[in-house]
Formats: sequence, C-alpha cells, structure tokens
Amino acid sequence: MKNKKIILVSFIILCVLFGILYVKNEPEYIDENLYQGLLSENLIQKAVIDDEKILLKTKEGNYAIIKDGIDLKTLLAKVPVEIKKDNTLWIFFIAIVIFIILFLILAFIRKKEFSKYPISSKKTQTQTSIANLESNIKPVISSITFDDVAGVDEVKMELSELVDFLQNSKKYKEFGVKMPKGVLMVGPPGVGKTLIAKAVAGEAGVPFFYQSGSSFVEIYVGMGAKRVRELFSKAKMMAPSIIFIDEIDAVGKARGEMSNVERDSTLNQLLTQMDGFEDNNGVIVIAATNKIELMDPALLRSGRFDRRIFLSLPDFKDRLKILEIYMKGKSNNVDLSKIAKASVGFSGAGLETLVNEAAINALRRNSTLVEENDFYAVLNKVLVGKKKILTFNDEEKKIQATYQAAKALSAYYFDIGFEKFTLIEDRFKEYEKNIRSKSELINRIKVYLSGSRAMNLIYNETYTNSQNDFLKIKELLEYMINFDMIEEANLDEYKKEVDEFLSSMKEKILKLSELLLDQEKIEYKDIKLFMQI
Ligand code: ADP
Repeated sequence: MKNKKIILVSFIILCVLFGILYVKNEPEYIDENLYQGLLSENLIQKAVIDDEKILLKTKEGNYAIIKDGIDLKTLLAKVPVEIKKDNTLWIFFIAIVIFIILFLILAFIRKKEFSKYPISSKKTQTQTSIANLESNIKPVISSITFDDVAGVDEVKMELSELVDFLQNSKKYKEFGVKMPKGVLMVGPPGVGKTLIAKAVAGEAGVPFFYQSGSSFVEIYVGMGAKRVRELFSKAKMMAPSIIFIDEIDAVGKARGEMSNVERDSTLNQLLTQMDGFEDNNGVIVIAATNKIELMDPALLRSGRFDRRIFLSLPDFKDRLKILEIYMKGKSNNVDLSKIAKASVGFSGAGLETLVNEAAINALRRNSTLVEENDFYAVLNKVLVGKKKILTFNDEEKKIQATYQAAKALSAYYFDIGFEKFTLIEDRFKEYEKNIRSKSELINRIKVYLSGSRAMNLIYNETYTNSQNDFLKIKELLEYMINFDMIEEANLDEYKKEVDEFLSSMKEKILKLSELLLDQEKIEYKDIKLFMQI
C-alpha cells in the first residue's frame, strides 16, 4: 500500500516537472523587427517550420514568429531550415509505454504484498481471507528421492519405515500398528532437513504440504490457528500425505515471559490437531528446528513429535558423498577427498555453494575443467560468507580436541550416555527416565567440568572454549537447588574428583584427541574399545 502511494506521488511530481519544462520551453513570440534584427546579426542558428509558425533557435533561447509575415527565401539563404516532424505519434507511444511500465510495477508490488500476507485482504476480511487460505495451502508432488540425499544412511533407514507406512497405511492399520504422528528433525541450518522430508514424500509418492512456522505467526491475529486447521484438514483430505513445518520453533517456542497471544493460539491449535487424529489416518507431520531446547515441552510430549531425528554437520565420509553428487556432470580433475578433508564445518548446503563457486571460478579462468585450485580459491570465501562455526586454526583444533577427548572419557567413566563427540558438538543421549537422581546430575556436572580441568592439567592454562559447559553447569546447579539436592554451588569437591580421574588418564586423553582430530568424531563404541586396550 505504502509503495503504491509513493509511486503515485512520484508520478504526479514527474508530470508537474514535465509540465514546467514544457511551459519553460515554449518559445517567446517576436515581431518582425526583432526577427530582422536577429537575421541581420546572424544570430539565428536554425529555423524550424511548424505549421503556422517558425521556430527560431538562437544561442540565447528559442523564439517564434508567424510564418505569414516573413520572406522564407531570405531566411533559407541565411539559416538552415527544417520542417517540424509530427511528434504526436511519438508522444502517444511514449505515454503508452510509461503507462504499461507503471501498471507492471503496481502489479508486481501487489503480488509481493499478497505473498507476504497471504491471507490479508482489505474488504470483508474474514470472507476473503478464507478464500485466500483455500488457495494458499497447496501440496506439491516431490520428485526428490533418497538418492538425492547424500550420506545420512541411518536417517534414511529410519525414515524408510515411514515411507512404507505411507505406502501401505491400510496394512498397518489392519494390523493395529500405531505409527508416529510427528517426526521432529533437529539440526543446524543447511544439513538437509527439508530435503530429507521431501525425499520421504517423493519415495512414498504422497502429497507434500510445506509450511514455515513463521508464516503462522506473521499473519493477522487469529489467522495462524485457522491456517493450521486448514492445513491439517487439507492434508487429511489428501491422505496419505506429509505436512512439513519448517522452523517450528517460531510457533513452538516455550511459552515464556514474552508470551505472544497469537503464537499461543497457533500452538494450541497445532497441539489440538496433532492430538486429533487418534488412529493416524495417514498424515505424518515432519517438523524441523535447530533449537530443540527452545521448544515448548507440550509439543515434545508423547503422541506428538515423539520421534526425533538428529542431524549434524556432515562428517568426512558424508561430505565426500555430497561433493560427489554436486560434481556429477562437471568435468574436473579434482581429488574430492582432499576437498572433503579441507571443508570441515560445512553443511550440505555449504558444500553445494562451494562446488558452485569453484565452477564459477573455473569459468572465470576461461576453463571448463574444474581444478583443485578452484576450490581452494573459493573455500575461504564460502566459509566466511556462511559464518561457519569451525574456523579454528591448527593450534586451536589441538586444544579443542584435547578438551573434547577429556569430556568423552569422563562421560564414559561417570556413566553419562552419549552418542558421539566432535570438535564442536557433544551429542549426549536424551534422558529418558522421569525421575532423576542427585548422583546422575552431579555426574553430569563432572563431565561438563572435565574439559576445563583437562586444560589446567595438560596445558596449565584456562581457555574460553569452556563457556558453554559452564552455562550447562549453572543450569544444572539451579535445577538441583529446586529439589533441595544442594544448598550452595560449591564445585571444589567435584573438581577434585575430576582431577583425580583425569590425572590417571593423561596419556589416554592425548591419544584420544589424536583420534578425534583424525576421525572428526569419537563415538561411544570407540571409547569402549579404547579403554579395553
Ligand atoms: P535445512 O532444511 O536443514 O536447513 P535444506 O534441506 O534446506 O536444509 O538444505 C539446503 C540445500 O542443501 C538442499 O536443497 C540441498 O541442495 C543441499 N543439501 C543439504 N544436505 C544435503 C545432503 N545430505 N545431500 C545433498 N544435498 C544436500
């Protein structure tokens, strides 16, 4: 709306300016005496015959004189004379072009406004918005399959069960098997959450309804909930089908102090809908987030998004596969394993960009063959541009590896379940019991202390990479105070115990850190094996 006004005002201003210019350019009529004077002084540069008058161009300005009153022959002898062309057609043509351009600009702005506020309307809001809603939630038929998703083999395996359910939902129903209603995919941006959900739909050949969490809360009050209802009813109508809600944290953020009425009503509607399909009628909701800790616990409760799939940044093996997918069809002599090694910290999306940039670099060199140097030339650019998490230098990598290795060993020793540790990430097992014990919580604190204690022990130094762990410790301590498990936060005793354990493990920590640098991750089974040696 605002833009429309701006364009209209600019148009009017432009018209006025043109008008002023036109009036200013209108020549002044002169009498014959003055004309003779100009002619005899050779001041007229050019004359243009225009119907009844003659325009006279001089250095000082333009004049006009009635044609009948002058002798054309003398004029012709002294000054170049032109006959004025008929400009009216041109003016008409230019006016039409301006009109069309304005019309297109307005149409474009209108379209943008509508796509931003898909269910907004000026007149009878409720009526028209429902009509818009209807037309806005449309499924797509995905042509993506698991072959298009590189790596993440376990994820694909887990999801193939869902594919089978979508294809044979009747069989499962008859057999009384309940399938999950909701799958929550957790992982940093660009690791392929959307891609995988599309692949599930593609493999199963079912309609795919995409909605972004933020699109529910950006619209008019009350509309978010309506939109959720509409989405589910459409998906049910077309079942078996998949609903994919990207950035679900926009709706499912834990209801805190800054509660937002609109978000709450949308969230409640989402919960109602998910609880609504008791005997799952073939609609599977896949949601994606990169902040599971911010999710409202209500959404995570059983019967809703009770399946979780964690995706992390791809490891060496997966990076190589992703690079291979995107290099397919591009002539090159690149040893992709070297590039995979050099691109630690890249997501799938980052790798796709990297390949693209390398290919552009090759073209810039006027070559159609992508070479290794093309990759190195753009590696930093992509890294910095994407603000990747991992920009450690070699020294920092060594410190971080020691830090994480100590934590992994402690977790094993203090019996805190985990899947893996990488240089930048701890993947602890989700806590499944409902009742937690003081000793388990204290053991967790000890694990979070281990990294910084190991730095003291091995490098005789304290580093800032322990920041997140100390935040976790603080949270745990506050949590324990709620249950009267501790009175004051005194970590000395725990530190002492951790130090004792780590001192006996110094060599093992260093060896394990080398393994971590080499493999980029340490899994639980690695440590088990390692401790047996
Ligand atoms: P997310 O939803 O996790 O933010 P996307 O699914 O939108 O990530 O990924 C963005 C793009 O990155 C995808 O469209 C795809 O081109 C590429 N990509 C990410 N992960 C992979 C992968 N494992 N295999 C192939 N391409 C990938």
